Amino acid sequence: MPRVFSGIQPTGDPHIGNYFGAMKNYVRLGEEYGKDSIYCVVDLHAITNPAAYDPARLAERTFEMAVANFAAGLDPAKVTFFVQSQVPEHHELSWVFTALTPVGELERMTQYKDKSEQLESVPAGLLMYPVLMAADILLYKADTVPVGEDQTQHIELTREIARKFNHAYGDTFPEPKAVYAKDALRIPGVDGHGKMGKSKGETSTLGILEPLDSIWQKVRVAPTDPARVRRTDPGDPDKCLIGDYHKLFSDRPTIETVYAGCRTAGIGCVDCKKMLMEGVRRELEPLQARAADLRADPDLVRDALEQGAKEARAIARPVMEEVREKVGFLKAR
Ligand code: ATP
Ligand code: MG
Repeated sequence: MPRVFSGIQPTGDPHIGNYFGAMKNYVRLGEEYGKDSIYCVVDLHAITNPAAYDPARLAERTFEMAVANFAAGLDPAKVTFFVQSQVPEHHELSWVFTALTPVGELERMTQYKDKSEQLESVPAGLLMYPVLMAADILLYKADTVPVGEDQTQHIELTREIARKFNHAYGDTFPEPKAVYAKDALRIPGVDGHGKMGKSKGETSTLGILEPLDSIWQKVRVAPTDPARVRRTDPGDPDKCLIGDYHKLFSDRPTIETVYAGCRTAGIGCVDCKKMLMEGVRRELEPLQARAADLRADPDLVRDALEQGAKEARAIARPVMEEVREKVGFLKAR
């Protein structure tokens, strides 16, 4: 039976990379697979990166991440949506998987290399991140994982861990496959420094819950094609952040107008950015209104999350029992 799993870290405000790269696929797959599409705010992961973790803000960020997903169209009554730390089987399975995973494999993960480079002291948890991620997915025997392209290596490792477990203990887990959003594989940060990422801070991100004037302030100063020095120089929209963002937010005729206008110097960067903001407003205004309604009733959100954790545990418990028995742990009577 097909089953979907994906997680999102409460390491900061959800941004348009998360939204177009992952969350929109959650909604689409949620409509198809109902309760067998399982989504999780992965707070156990969030504590592994000291650059983005603040204990005083974790609970609030976790709540906000749930609000963002519900506002984006996920209905917790129709899918399974919960907070990772409320289902303790995640770390239980993770520990079993650490025993199957070579340290060398973990050390060559590019996300680990990127994130640990920024740190003076690297927590072991950051190295173990992909093992916990494998446990998140396989705990539900999920075979379909909607993610951005930056997770490809982690999904490949998950497949390897599944293979190793199956080889050692008999057929247990599927080998899951990633599902990507084809126009949003890896959305660049608005500061022009690589992938947009929550943990890189607000200069990198355009938040989906961010006030539109704050989004405009960042778009206004965002770098464009560096070859286009003067207004009269032709530009290359394929080498421009704003060109990338138009593909996410704008309709066909607008995209054609700004792409052609950029190439012929018929349109200036400021006007191109203003046209982008029309699409941003169209997409985000209704989402932000729904988020405001959800925030006004926090108990409703909390209840939905707790119900989601119950539903998740109902699947996770028997899988963990199967694992305990296969691994050879003495069963408590
Ligand atoms: P962090 O910087 O803390 O790792 P993040 O912004 O990378 O945060 P995650 O919670 O790690 O977000 O990832 C959630 C989902 O969003 C994943 O499926 C990931 O692949 C996807 N994603 C993250 N950033 C981008 C991006 N820039 N473009 C497309 N997809 C993205
Ligand atoms: Mg990430």
